[in-house]
Amino acid sequence: MQISVIGCGYLGAVHAAALAVMGHEVVGIDVDERKIADLSQSRAPFFEPGLPEALTEGFAAGRLAFSSEISEAKNATVHFIAVGTPQKAGSNAADLTYVFAAVEALMPHLKPGDLVVGKSTVPVGTARRIAELIAPTDARLAWNPEFLREGFAVNDSMHPDRIVYGLADDGNRDELKQVLDAVYATPIAEGAPVLVTELETAELVKVSANAFLATKISFINSMAEIAEATGADVTELADAIGLDARIGRRFLNAGVGFGGGCLPKDIRALMAHADEIGVGDSVAFLKEVDEVNLRRRAHVVSLAAEMLGGSVAGKRISLLGLSFKPESDDIRDSPALSIARLLSEDGASVVATDPEAIENARRVLTTVEYADSVESTVANADLVILLTEWKSFVQIDPSALSPLVSAAKIIDGRNVLDAQRWLAAGWDYRGMGRYRHE
Ligand code: NAD
Repeated sequence: MQISVIGCGYLGAVHAAALAVMGHEVVGIDVDERKIADLSQSRAPFFEPGLPEALTEGFAAGRLAFSSEISEAKNATVHFIAVGTPQKAGSNAADLTYVFAAVEALMPHLKPGDLVVGKSTVPVGTARRIAELIAPTDARLAWNPEFLREGFAVNDSMHPDRIVYGLADDGNRDELKQVLDAVYATPIAEGAPVLVTELETAELVKVSANAFLATKISFINSMAEIAEATGADVTELADAIGLDARIGRRFLNAGVGFGGGCLPKDIRALMAHADEIGVGDSVAFLKEVDEVNLRRRAHVVSLAAEMLGGSVAGKRISLLGLSFKPESDDIRDSPALSIARLLSEDGASVVATDPEAIENARRVLTTVEYADSVESTVANADLVILLTEWKSFVQIDPSALSPLVSAAKIIDGRNVLDAQRWLAAGWDYRGMGRYRHE
């Protein structure tokens, strides 16, 4: 099939490459010429495991192209909209400017019968508005939310655990379903379940999945707060409750909380939209979810002050991790960046490292020093804080770091280090809601 993907960021670039690997002819389109220049040379414009290989495979097969010209979408019959829907400045609501700009730019190139497929995460009701907008072109609309996880995005795109088609129940459903089934023939043949819903349900599925995940994380972080106040250990608690099949252990890791370009803005957009349509009370709990999450960042800063005798001012603090999660260079709403900013504001001298995110962090945070190895980051540190659970950080040998630091003190912001090993190597180890060992 001939497919266009409008918007080639973390979602769209991966989607375009994955569709080409699945055998389709794909053109990826983005207004960011730098991104297009990279992608056109088979270079991933951001760090995502497997993306360079998928791009290379798509190009080698002659099925993949990128362009900054929307007119290049004219030969495609299926057009995915994968542009950003960030939080609006000064509001909790989603900024839909990019979605509507992309659809409007695409409209002159749509042919009767083409299928426009929304992938961006949007407030419920957006799809109907787009369907009305494109109606004069005789193109049709579907909503097909995306569930990929950065760090696993290529694999998630090739092998999704479910595929949701939002299709208006207007008599064309079967025909549109057949088109989407052909797009996703490869994962469907592997057994990926397909769910067909109304447009509104498909839009809400994505937002509610993220709201649930955010709630699960904030739930365990609330328990970490209780554990911190009572001397319980939230990791043991998570193991114990996680064995209940109704609860499950995944996403029950207490730490510095969630971040990234999705969960924080998606729960805020859901609250804003629910308020707008008069059902704000239904998701009022998400305000607490957001607040618990942001409190974790402040908690790390107070814990740092406590471990440094009452204040971080004038202390050298080393941060391990900048991206919001490992295996990604994405720093959008990253807890690590907030913590770095708060520590510098309180007068600490902050030095940070990350395997992939330094360049992105450098662009938005200039008050910290960046180092390209763990050793140079922790040199003469009064305190080390692990903020992103990259494997290379989790595997650090504490006794190798001891001679480098000024004081052997560490905060494990993700509860991923072997506490006993760090304690045995003479470190003052503090986790998030974990037992305190003197
Ligand atoms: P992103 O910021 O990385 O990418 C968005 C891209 O859209 C940018 O490259 C931008 O230049 C481009 N763009 C903006 N306006 C355009 C236009 N008019 N025409 C063409 N391109 C345009 O964002 P992202 O993380 O890829 O997210 C995109 C959407 O997918 C969002 O709605 C997000 O919530 C959703 N989503 C993201 C993920 C994820 O893990 N990143 C997962 C699922 C869903």
